[in-house]
Amino acid sequence: MAVKKPTTMADDLAKLDGINESPNEDAYGGDKVTVPMGYYRLDKKELCGGGAFYPETMELYYRAASVEEVSNWSNMDDKNPQEVYDGVVGIVRSCVKGFPWKMIKEADRLKILMYVHEITFANTGNTMSVRCTCASCDTKYDKKILARDLCYKEIDKRLLDRVEPETGELLFQTKDFGEIRMAVPSLGSLRIVTDYMATRDKAWLKDHMMFFKIASFLILDHRVDGKKTMNTLYKDYSNWDIDKLGFMINLHRELSVGIEDVIPTTCPSCGEHNNVDIEGVFKGGMRNIFIKGVPDIYNRLL
Ligand SMILES: [Zn+2]
Repeated sequence: MAVKKPTTMADDLAKLDGINESPNEDAYGGDKVTVPMGYYRLDKKELCGGGAFYPETMELYYRAASVEEVSNWSNMDDKNPQEVYDGVVGIVRSCVKGFPWKMIKEADRLKILMYVHEITFANTGNTMSVRCTCASCDTKYDKKILARDLCYKEIDKRLLDRVEPETGELLFQTKDFGEIRMAVPSLGSLRIVTDYMATRDKAWLKDHMMFFKIASFLILDHRVDGKKTMNTLYKDYSNWDIDKLGFMINLHRELSVGIEDVIPTTCPSCGEHNNVDIEGVFKGGMRNIFIKGVPDIYNRLL
């Protein structure tokens, strides 16, 4: 695939309202980091859990999508969850560097795509925005949605304390169920789950959605034999008593690190802080980031 190397990234970026500095330059404590040519560094503090679910040594860089990549994206059939998944993976895979794409957390795909989007359309001003009404003075104004505006649901500190910095995995010692090791689902672990789901019929899937949700937190390494791993997990899951099932359901819910449906804005007229709902903006799904107006099927997968 032809890769168009952006040459005037800093200029392009400066044209975007609200972004005045290169993300390469700030907030890295003076550490010398070599950023690959044509790429920007993505501060992992911007990612889910403040980056806690990635290895502490992780570095992530991203670049603009090429015309060909955007074209592939807009050609995907968004009624086909597998194609949507492949579309996301395609962009992340080609535009992100420094860290294996399969280890990127599923919860971070939207934010990373938004970063790629901002760089890709820096010249055209093709930004996404949402209409706001000030709760205090009733002024109507548009708020541009930038990647850095997207906030993640907060994770309980007692869970974050269980993260192993070297791996980003969580290790729980429990009173009743022994040791439990979990990881926030990655694109790689999600692929294993969806591949397995594709081998099952609809009725079976319907009865086992909770298993798939929990399983995606239990696949720690995407390089495993997926089918074998899923079979083992299912055998294990089938043996859980109601107490363990309840515990695992609550644990995986607490670890659901998705993006909040609202972003903070400031009223240009009175300065009031308003939280505005952005759910509708992304209602059309992942493809909506580059192309508008399609239903989100991907989000229903997990
Ligand atoms: Zn106001």
